[in-house]
Amino acid sequence: MTNTTLTTTATRAATDATDIADAAAPATIAVYAAPAPKAPLERGTVPRRPLGANDILIDIKFAGICHSDIHQVGEDWGQGIFPMVPGHEIAGVVAEVGPGVTRWSVGDRVGVGCFVDSCRECDNCRAGLQQYCTSEGGPVFTYNAVGRDGTPTYGGYAKQLVIDADYALRIPDALPLDVAAPLLCAGITLYSPLTHWGAGPGKRVAIVGLGGLGHLGVKIARAKGAEVTVLSQSLRKREDGLKLGAHDYRATSDPATFTELAGRFDLIVNTVSADLDLSGYLGLLRLDGTLVQVGAPEKPVTVNAHALLTGRRSLSGSMIGGLPETQEMLDFCAEHGIGAEIELIPADRINEAYARVLASDVRYRFVIDTATI
Ligand code: NAP
Ligand code: ZN
Repeated sequence: MTNTTLTTTATRAATDATDIADAAAPATIAVYAAPAPKAPLERGTVPRRPLGANDILIDIKFAGICHSDIHQVGEDWGQGIFPMVPGHEIAGVVAEVGPGVTRWSVGDRVGVGCFVDSCRECDNCRAGLQQYCTSEGGPVFTYNAVGRDGTPTYGGYAKQLVIDADYALRIPDALPLDVAAPLLCAGITLYSPLTHWGAGPGKRVAIVGLGGLGHLGVKIARAKGAEVTVLSQSLRKREDGLKLGAHDYRATSDPATFTELAGRFDLIVNTVSADLDLSGYLGLLRLDGTLVQVGAPEKPVTVNAHALLTGRRSLSGSMIGGLPETQEMLDFCAEHGIGAEIELIPADRINEAYARVLASDVRYRFVIDTATI
């Protein structure tokens, strides 16, 4: 492991006359970053933006490793910005507040998810659906993006983060910060479609893939009162799946799964990170059922048109959730005692964790103890 300094040449334009120039504050943040596409992550530093009037400084305590981090370091979705500090499942404590901030105090427990800003003016932002911001460039993602001040954003594999106070979420006291971190992406990514498509009593829901997203989907769908089935590649994790709350657990490698469960589900949420032929899965939906794609593979998913039209079935997609719904999800999880099942790791095991996620060997979310950075 090298100990590189990953400074960038980017400088932050002064966007706000009320920005405080805090000369005493450290100008950099200790991070784990990928210096180049597909490169192993290594210890380094990145610039810390000055605390603006409506900003808060967060001492990050825990950061989840999402499969999206691996997609982006690998440039699966297109060109990345390097050095890249991944991490959009962030849990920490407010360490400093700008003079214009009224909502937060030092010591508050906060979370940050996949975006840190948006236009606030488009219909979707006004509706609290900031993840679907329609302004040019859309929402500002937590990392691998350029902020509205023109500088790169850096994510949660870090000791600290400065963000706009409006884009932080409150982590209820009942949720330990380490198991809460993955809720900020994995949790909301399942909560939102489960809510939108009405998972609840009398509804049969299938979750495809029992990884970081999938295992939280099982817990949340069960807590909402739905009948839950896991569709996993094998029966290897069956016992876990049933303990997490699934009523049934089937292997997609067994062709009998697709005949026995044909026409059964109201809703299927596909969390798989690889490209799948969805036709067989669509056949598991009843009339008017919906398959929601949340997995974001590099290659296109394929669909046989007959699988859609023979049951007036719908194929849809869903991306994380807006700020109000993310807060609702955190409160729901606190009320129902839902946190992620995690393997807490020091930062020098991030690369090993990436390899294990890629091998579907994760039970069920790696979370970095950022004190080790
Ligand atoms: P993960 O922990 O790696 O889980 C993915 C699961 O998919 C694996 O555990 C495995 O489950 C299954 N799987 C993996 N490869 C497979 C293959 N070749 N064939 C069939 N099943 C396979 O990943 P994650 O963090 O949950 O993320 C899952 C996907 O969602 C990623 O593509 C990520 O980028 C995306 N994502 C989307 C959003 C959104 O807003 N839509 C948000 C976050 C993440 P089994 O072992 O049970 O089969
Ligand atoms: Zn994520």
